[in-house]
Amino acid sequence: MEKLSNPQVTIQIIKKYDFAFQKRFGQNFLIDGHVIEKIIKAADITKEDTILEIGPGIGTMTQYLAEAAGKVYAVEIDKNLLPVLAETLGEYDNVEVINNDILKVDIKELLGEDAGNVKVVANLPYYITTPIIMGLFENHIPAKSITVMVQKEVALRMQAAPGTKDYGALSLAVQYYAQPYIVANVPPNCFMPRPNVGSAVIKLTRWDNPPVKVNDEKLMFDLIRASFNQRRKTLQNGINNAPNLNFTKEQVVEALKEMGLPETVRGEALTLEQFARLSDLLGK
Ligand code: SAM
Repeated sequence: MEKLSNPQVTIQIIKKYDFAFQKRFGQNFLIDGHVIEKIIKAADITKEDTILEIGPGIGTMTQYLAEAAGKVYAVEIDKNLLPVLAETLGEYDNVEVINNDILKVDIKELLGEDAGNVKVVANLPYYITTPIIMGLFENHIPAKSITVMVQKEVALRMQAAPGTKDYGALSLAVQYYAQPYIVANVPPNCFMPRPNVGSAVIKLTRWDNPPVKVNDEKLMFDLIRASFNQRRKTLQNGINNAPNLNFTKEQVVEALKEMGLPETVRGEALTLEQFARLSDLLGK
C-alpha cells in the first residue's frame, strides 16, 4: 500500500476504520515523511538490527522501520488500532505487533535473543516519556540507542548542562546512562491531530560504561531526586527533607565541605561527578 506518511492515505485509513483519536493515549500521528526519514537516518538502522517501537499508532513509522530493520517489535496499548495495523503492516512479515502497555511489558522476555541487538525508536506518547525512558535504563535493557520524538522541552532537559534552567534529575539520569543528541526540532503541523507543544527528536546513545564511578547507584539517584525536589531550596535542605534518606544536617555539611562546596549550594550547581562523590562520601 502507499505510505501513511502521505496525509491523504492517513485520512483515508482513519475514515475507513472510523478511528477516534484518544487524547489519554497521547495519540498524535506523524504525517510528514521527511521527519520520519530523519528519525530513521539518526537511528542508524541496518538489517542486522532489531527495533522496539513504542506506540506504532496506525503504523506510519513502522512501515519505514520494517523496510530498514531485520525485525520490528511494535508495542501498542490501543486495541482499536489492531485491525488498522493488520492492514497497514500486512505486507511486512518482519513486524510483530504486541497489544499491551509498554510499562507492563517484560521487554527482555519479549525480545529474547534479539535483546542484545535492539534499538528503540518511537514517537512517544508524551504523558509517559520519563517512565518509559527511565524504565529502559533502570531495567538495564541492552538497547544500543534510543531515538525518540519527545516534547521539545523534555529534549532540552535531557541534554541540559549544570547551572542552566533546564538542568535537573532527568538530565543527570539520562546523561549517566547515555549521550544525548538533539537530532531535529519538529513543529506541530507534522502531526495529526496537532499537539499543543513543540516536539524534538533526540537520540540517546548508551555508554558502554557509565561516565562516572559510584559505589551505590541507587543512593546517588535518591540524592539527586531529593536535591531537585524543592528547586529553590538548598541541596542540604532537599536531602534533609527527603523521607527516604536518613542523613543528619552535619553529615551533609561535612560531605559538602570535603568537596569544597558551600553549605548553601543548590542541586543545579552540581555535576554528575559531584553527585557521585557526594553519594560515596555519605554512603561510607
Ligand atoms: N508511532 C505513531 C506515529 O508516529 O504516527 C504514533 C505515535 S503517538 C504520539 C503515541 C502512540 O503510543 C499512540 O499510538 C498510542 O496509542 C500509543 N501508546 C500510548 N500509551 C501507550 C502505552 N502505555 N503503551 C504502548 N503504547 C502506548
